[in-house]
Amino acid sequence: MRTSLLLSLMLCLIVSPITILRAAPETEPSLPLPHDDVLIAPAGLSFASDDTSVPRLPSQYLAGNVAVRLVLPESTGALDPSTEDWTPELISQVTNQARAALEWWRERLPAARLEFDLVVQVAPTKYEPIRYGLAQEGLWIGDVLGELGYDSANYFEQAYMAAFDLRDQRGADWATTIFIVNSDRDDGYFADGRFAYAYLNGPFSVITSDGGPYGTRWLAAVIAHEFAHLFGALDQYSAAGIRCDQRSGYLYTPTTNSMFNNCGSNEPSIMRELIASFMNGAVDASARAQLGYRDSDGNGIIDVLDTTPAITVTASLQATGARPVVELTARDIPYPSPVQPDASINPITAIEYRVNGSVWQLATPVDGAFDSIREVAQIELPLYDGEYTVEFRALNLIGHMSSLITQTFTVSQLGPAPAYEVPEPARLAGNALTLHLVAPATTRAVEVSFQRDFARAVRMPYSPALGVPLPEVAELTLLVDQIASLSLYVRFIDHNGLPSLAYMVPVELPQPEQWLVMVPLVAR
Ligand SMILES: [Zn+2]
Repeated sequence: MRTSLLLSLMLCLIVSPITILRAAPETEPSLPLPHDDVLIAPAGLSFASDDTSVPRLPSQYLAGNVAVRLVLPESTGALDPSTEDWTPELISQVTNQARAALEWWRERLPAARLEFDLVVQVAPTKYEPIRYGLAQEGLWIGDVLGELGYDSANYFEQAYMAAFDLRDQRGADWATTIFIVNSDRDDGYFADGRFAYAYLNGPFSVITSDGGPYGTRWLAAVIAHEFAHLFGALDQYSAAGIRCDQRSGYLYTPTTNSMFNNCGSNEPSIMRELIASFMNGAVDASARAQLGYRDSDGNGIIDVLDTTPAITVTASLQATGARPVVELTARDIPYPSPVQPDASINPITAIEYRVNGSVWQLATPVDGAFDSIREVAQIELPLYDGEYTVEFRALNLIGHMSSLITQTFTVSQLGPAPAYEVPEPARLAGNALTLHLVAPATTRAVEVSFQRDFARAVRMPYSPALGVPLPEVAELTLLVDQIASLSLYVRFIDHNGLPSLAYMVPVELPQPEQWLVMVPLVAR
């Protein structure tokens, strides 16, 4: 183990001697690795506290938005003598190291859409945590999490509650907790000789502020290593005894880079050595796969994000003399895990329908926004008397589309469809957009919006030549020539108050002059 480590360090020296010399650690590079630092949380607790419709562990794979709670326990002296104290300098030091570790992972996994949200909390406890070992961790962890407002007789249950709460509070896909135990005046080790460990796939990790032999200077490397355990990666150093065929993580992939029994592919990796790997950004393919970072079909989208939505009609109501009402449920179908609950983090971004092959219309979700992996829309189909073929589909964040659902509808006793037409583009004239419209004279109103979902639409009485005053739909000043293609969405409201399908109308801008117009922030 040491020979190959030295060899890889020597190779690094040959490749980039200046970097290595400048960044050379003050301490011996081949430091002892965190011993037995991967633990398994008790089963059966994790799902009970997650009351969302889809059961999810707090940290299944490393992609998307990740909220990280950095907890710094502060002893009050109420039970144990307080021997350690967080100073502003030490707090900012460990915070910066944690930030560096997270940023390091973000750079390693560019296709994972990673965004970290670090929440730092100093929390009181009557214990002095550095005095204890793994066997007694429940004492101070339970105390600390209780102080943070998570009460249960079981500290794992508390940790899951804390993770789910943080995830919901920050609107994140995943959440985890890292306890940094102050060891400033101690030797950097717990009573049992440990200095860093983590529960595989969460819910938390525990690290001393000195990172044992690594010191505060290399704490980021220690955090980066433990963080990988929190998201499913196993150790690869020889002493960990992980066989090359041992599987882990959401994708349940083997540890093919393990040093144990010389079975591995022998790539440098943060899972087998900390300092040089951290400096050089080394993560091997098997650790990446255990974190969920694998692109089986080579389409540039990692498997866990390579998902497709499905759509079903959950209710359909057709009454004589009324418009048909359809309820649709769209759900993103996760990339399946052989061992964990299937989980997708790609929200549904649209539920659409079209009538007789016309332009796709956007439905409005029941909860007001397309932002979760399950969305429901109720659509009153804007139809008049006749027979119609209506198709429905859903799209997700990566633009993948569900298969189509086709239904036929027969409408009667509502009257014939009014002859609506928007014959030409909208034109900018002065401080208004001019629209030419064709509709029956009895048409009650017209709704105009720059947004497909008719958010903040302007409603005006119908007129064949309509002037839409721009300031009424405006929020932001933009130069016209900065807008690639601006469209307007128009729908008619008939004499009974029934809306029509939406018409997409291009906006024609006078060229080549530059006009200053007011358009909404979201105009595309
Ligand atoms: Zn480890």
